[in-house]
Amino acid sequence: MKSVSLDDFKKAVDKRNTSDHTCRNCGGKVKYSIVEGTYTCKECGFVEWDIYGRIKELLEWNPNLSRIEIATILHVKMRDMNQCFDNGILVNPKSNMLD
Ligand SMILES: [Zn+2]
Repeated sequence: MKSVSLDDFKKAVDKRNTSDHTCRNCGGKVKYSIVEGTYTCKECGFVEWDIYGRIKELLEWNPNLSRIEIATILHVKMRDMNQCFDNGILVNPKSNMLD
């Protein structure tokens, strides 16, 4: 039985974090911050929020939104958004109501 090595796992994570994402402003390479949920361009410094960052930002101002409300406001798929919560990156006090 072939198991996934730690190295393979790390490569997969790196690949997801950087993926094919390029700067929307200049097309340069970006650096992903899992803490902030942002892509920062290494070339011009342009910052772009990803789904994590956008939800995090929204919840800071509107902590009582439900998951459905967040998905509607940000136009994100429930499945994508639920992953953010399930990974423990985001916490929504109302989330249990919808589980
Ligand atoms: Zn750029």
